[in-house]
Amino acid sequence: LSEIVSGPAARLQRRSAKIIYGDKIVVVGGGAPVVVQSMTNTDTADVIGTAIQIKELARAGSELVRITVNNHEAARAVPDIRNQLDKMGIDVPLVGDFHYNGHTLLKEVPECAQALSKYRINPGNVGQGAKRDSQFAQMIEIACEYDKPVRIGVNWGSLDQALLARIMDTNAARSQPWSAQSVMYEALITSAIENAERAEELGLSGDKIILSCKVSGVQDLIAVYRELSARCDYPLHLGLTEAGMGSKGIVASTAALSVLLQQGIGDTIRISLTPEPGGDRCKEIVVAQEILQTMGLRKFTPMVIACPGCGRTTSTVFQELADDIQTFLRDQMPVWKTQYPGVENMNVAVMGCIVNGPGESKHAHIGISLPGTGESPAAPVFIDGQKAMTLRGEHIAQEFQKIVLDYVQR
Ligand code: SF4
Repeated sequence: LSEIVSGPAARLQRRSAKIIYGDKIVVVGGGAPVVVQSMTNTDTADVIGTAIQIKELARAGSELVRITVNNHEAARAVPDIRNQLDKMGIDVPLVGDFHYNGHTLLKEVPECAQALSKYRINPGNVGQGAKRDSQFAQMIEIACEYDKPVRIGVNWGSLDQALLARIMDTNAARSQPWSAQSVMYEALITSAIENAERAEELGLSGDKIILSCKVSGVQDLIAVYRELSARCDYPLHLGLTEAGMGSKGIVASTAALSVLLQQGIGDTIRISLTPEPGGDRCKEIVVAQEILQTMGLRKFTPMVIACPGCGRTTSTVFQELADDIQTFLRDQMPVWKTQYPGVENMNVAVMGCIVNGPGESKHAHIGISLPGTGESPAAPVFIDGQKAMTLRGEHIAQEFQKIVLDYVQR
């Protein structure tokens, strides 16, 4: 027998890139904690609407926020958005997402080039033919001029067709040609690495380059990133693109990213959820944080451990209490994380009956076991593994919340 140990593999040794705004420095790679990022879905030309959404995303925990810069109106809005954020005290670095006309926008609106903290360039959407190389070069030269890092962000929905044709020709000449799927993987990886090397030849420092190769299939993403990770040491941005809506998007993203993160692959993540109609954009931040926290890679907020409930659960009080406590803890974190350093390490158990209730509660910092079917109408509370009190009556939820608050303050 050998000792059973758990935990993700050591993070692979990679270069690191710094994304800077003022005094704020977000480090991606080099063993730094995995960074959570997101992207707005407002019209960037709408300065106030975009600034408000960036504020919401940043407050929810997005450490970088990407905005599309798709036309001159959007480019001109970027410095105004930055100013609005400054007025609101939001120092999250902004990443500009460029396709087709990035070379023109960055050149013609220098205030935009300056206000952004990082550029995302999709090498499949830089231009065609002879123009492609010069337009890519123009963007890299501007990144060098303004000292900005760049993500070379390949996406299989917009793969460089000339490069794909070249890889297909190479494949056709093989005595045993690869599958179409493998050719696609090869094209994605080659596009990322060749463009990164080209950027370095153009003068961009290697520690200002981050790579991504996004696809929408779980097994495809895992296969591509394993290979990409083995072939280069640039920091990697992970995300399952077009993951979809609701539970499908969450499950698919979690499945793909967990496998890679467990293997030490991935320096920053984004969960690309399609929002439900009227849904909250910040959901993708919550999911990203929960993936990292449940895997033990980072801690953001106290964890609520709750049983699923079953026929022994006598009322909905238990579900409501678990939900209320989780919402309460998350809502407090913007203030608590500075007031009470380490509070994110706390575990709170909310359990439905005595079968697993007291045991799970003792493992948590604070736990409550609500009365199940046939049990006395009492809810024992455990603090630091010891039974501390018993709650009864109609106000168990409010009293338990107060106990949690007292514990944090103490
Ligand atoms: Fe059911 Fe009790 Fe287990 Fe919760 S702790 S799932 S209520 S048996």
